[in-house]
Amino acid sequence: MDYGDFEAVIGLEVHAQLLTESKLFCSCSTKFGAEPNVHTCPVCMGLPGALPVLNRKAVEYAIKLGLALNCTINKRSVFARKNYYYPDLPKGYQISQYEEPICKDGYVEVDTEGGKKRIRIRRIHLEEDAGKLIHEGEIEKSSYTLVDFNRASIPLVEIVTEPDISSPKEAVAYLKLLRSILIYLEICDGNMEEGSIRCDANVSVRRKGDTKFGTRTELKNLNSFRYMEKALDYEIRRQITLLEEEKEVIQETRLFNPHEGVTYSMRGKEEAHDYRYFPDPDLLPLVIDDDWIEAVKRTIPELPQKKAERFLRDFGLPLYDVEILCSDKKLADYFEETVRLYPEPKTVSNWIMTELLRELKETNLPLDRIPFSPAMLAELLLLVKEGKISMKMAKDFFPQLFRRGVSPRKYVDEKGLSQISDESLIEEAVKKVLSAYPKEVEEYRKGKEKVLSFFVGQVMKETKGRANPKIVNELIREKLKRGLE
Ligand code: ADP
Ligand code: MG
Ligand code: ZN
Repeated sequence: MDYGDFEAVIGLEVHAQLLTESKLFCSCSTKFGAEPNVHTCPVCMGLPGALPVLNRKAVEYAIKLGLALNCTINKRSVFARKNYYYPDLPKGYQISQYEEPICKDGYVEVDTEGGKKRIRIRRIHLEEDAGKLIHEGEIEKSSYTLVDFNRASIPLVEIVTEPDISSPKEAVAYLKLLRSILIYLEICDGNMEEGSIRCDANVSVRRKGDTKFGTRTELKNLNSFRYMEKALDYEIRRQITLLEEEKEVIQETRLFNPHEGVTYSMRGKEEAHDYRYFPDPDLLPLVIDDDWIEAVKRTIPELPQKKAERFLRDFGLPLYDVEILCSDKKLADYFEETVRLYPEPKTVSNWIMTELLRELKETNLPLDRIPFSPAMLAELLLLVKEGKISMKMAKDFFPQLFRRGVSPRKYVDEKGLSQISDESLIEEAVKKVLSAYPKEVEEYRKGKEKVLSFFVGQVMKETKGRANPKIVNELIREKLKRGLE
């Protein structure tokens, strides 16, 4: 994407839902998909006299993220009330953090076309989610809206970057990295369709070489990588056109319409809320000591970028493989465990990236719930290596093995499926095929090499795919050379 004399300046605000079992200030469940308004209580409904109690796990998760994003953890942070009225907000205010967030001054390094690029994290704060409005059809001409408070007060972290991002691609790279870190830390499920990660983008443009930032707009709800890239690109071009026509960019909030591929104004600066933040009098300042931070530090696993570097170095895999394998910690673990038992990284990687991923997709199973273990995969690959079965056979019955979780060796033995390496058996099939196709044999003798693969195919068919293809090839060549006695 080239913007001519202009460059883009982008800062992202990402909300991520934390995987705690209970809400941020009460013990209501955070489970997704329950009947509406089942997971509610006086605290998350904001009834008079109810008092919030902070969820320790949510704090721990925020610290974990802060450490993973190289932030300073504030020893003392403060919960504040962000006041506004909306039907999905039962208390009339949201409990958030304002002047003193839990984490600040971090950074990540994303891979861009021009190499590594550092994007600074300005702050991470804890806050509660709002409920969900459900806009229903019509009752007697007037439409109506329902509200579900199950989501109200589920813990979120908001991660705010400095305006360090300079293209839609970089923004996507940042969001992908952030998402994978959240998933690696096991503090967010990363499900963007269900809204577990929500992203707003602040965008401005300026002439290359300018040091002053231009006026920015804020794009709301860019909840898929593809939409985000499109929306940012559209918005950058819109702003550039305005500047080229000597018009002004107006500071406002805009929404992206994915069907039309354009952004349109939602509210201007005048309509911006004054939230009247003030420290929540029901909550003490949050104090975190060094021991706690140290304890959380010990729970941080190897992060995706470190893992990818190690996979490149130790397994000699191509970058393409490494990116796919490390995109998911469980997939990476599966790979490593298989390689431990069957130390041929590229063979294992090929199998995982094609056969295993396809089966996962078709069965729609999460990786930690599949019945086919790394040990089973290692066994299957060993059967191929030993020549007991062909690669093709392995691929043919993989779906069966995968879905039922049976030992490949047992399966092959029980079904009598092992590859035929007995030359006399294969020879018989070869003879049969060659005598059935005299015309093709003639063609081969005249120099048409291509019929060879036709013969191989026929012999495989004759042996129900079980003949060792290497021996089949050799025998056919030999027979054709020596003539059919
Ligand atoms: P607000 O208080 O309205 O949320 P902030 O100053 O906290 O505004 O910034 C919010 C986000 O906007 C941050 O991610 C920041 O990096 C980004 N941002 C600030 N100024 C600009 C700008 N001129 N162009 C693009 N992004 C900006
Ligand atoms: Mg903001
Ligand atoms: Zn509750």
